[in-house]
Amino acid sequence: MYQSSRPLRGDSPVSIIGAGIAGAWQALLFAQAGHAVTLHERSSDAMLLATSHWAGGMLAPYCESEVAEPIISRLGLRALDLWRRELPDTPFNGSLVVAHARERADFERFARLTSGHRRLDARGLAELEPSLEGRFRDALFFADEGHVEPRRVLPKLHQRIIAAGGTIKFNSEPQPSEIEGLVIDCRGLSARDTEPELRGVKGELILIETCEVELARPVRLIHPRWPLYVIPREDHLFMLGATSIEAEDTGVSVRSALELLGAAYAVHPAFAEARIVEFGSGLRPAYPDNLPRISIAKDHIAVNGLYRHGFLIAPALAELTLSFVERGRIDNEVMQCA
Ligand SMILES: Cc1cc2nc3c(=O)[nH]c(=O)nc-3n(C[C@H](O)[C@H](O)[C@H](O)COP(=O)(O)OP(=O)(O)OC[C@H]3O[C@@H](n4cnc5c(N)ncnc54)[C@H](O)[C@@H]3O)c2cc1C
Repeated sequence: MYQSSRPLRGDSPVSIIGAGIAGAWQALLFAQAGHAVTLHERSSDAMLLATSHWAGGMLAPYCESEVAEPIISRLGLRALDLWRRELPDTPFNGSLVVAHARERADFERFARLTSGHRRLDARGLAELEPSLEGRFRDALFFADEGHVEPRRVLPKLHQRIIAAGGTIKFNSEPQPSEIEGLVIDCRGLSARDTEPELRGVKGELILIETCEVELARPVRLIHPRWPLYVIPREDHLFMLGATSIEAEDTGVSVRSALELLGAAYAVHPAFAEARIVEFGSGLRPAYPDNLPRISIAKDHIAVNGLYRHGFLIAPALAELTLSFVERGRIDNEVMQCA
């Protein structure tokens, strides 16, 4: 980081476009810092047009370091502190990684490439997650990871923004060029008019419901193609996710459904009797390098490319943007100035 010679208008009103996870965190930190924040969102408060609506909500910087660049771990670790600070009821129950015998080599590879875990034997796993007794020979336990339920946490963040003095306008769809003053553009994939490099990476998911299995934390199953996981939700719901496909349609293929349901069945056969509640998919906004970017051009700041880490890194990106606006601090790894 270095100090820019020309801090931007720290006391100005701020318009934020897009109330997904990126925009919500920007709005919260700017409102708390005393800025006059208006957050515009084209959806209703159900947020059905946001990728964030479809996310798993895992806050898993250690697991993600298997495939993600170090910058994701840096932002993610900082963001865990911000989640704890702003929403202290966020569950930090850790996460588990398990594998069946035929994926043993990949399991060991995952253990080598990641940190922040300890190995549990079958007994240790059963003590932590009684439903998984007898299911796996061992597991990796990432004790410091958390998870949120996107469809519950977005409304909570929106409430916090209002409590901090911000204004939220739902069903409001301005273009950044129409707004005077400082604009923070968090439109996700819709920002392609100004961010033409963005692409959508499809992630499919299934929601199921059963009282037969109880889990307190996400369970990842090592899989040759995708990190597949089962995330417990409230009311006996479980989210099965997520594929990662270079396509921008929003359907769910039979093949993906089979793999997701197969993963759940592999974690626990009782999932076979679960009720399917929903199939869905979201498009992750990604730049060609799959890394997040804060692009700064005069009064327009774009925060985008959160790819598969939006929930994990959004708080840290908001902190960096605020620090730029108030003190002119530039983070060379994430920020690009025109
Ligand atoms: C299946 C799946 C699972 C995932 N799991 C995880 C996970 O476990 N952990 C994790 O960290 N990440 C996960 N992700 C990634 C995460 O969902 C994304 O990184 C994140 O949602 C991107 O957030 P965003 O705010 O940039 O975009 P969005 O959530 O798409 O928000 C952009 C918002 O801008 C609004 N908008 C657009 N144009 C306008 C306009 N002109 N005016 C007003 N509003 C506008 C849109 O309606 C939208 O609400 C997952 C993604 C998918 C698809």
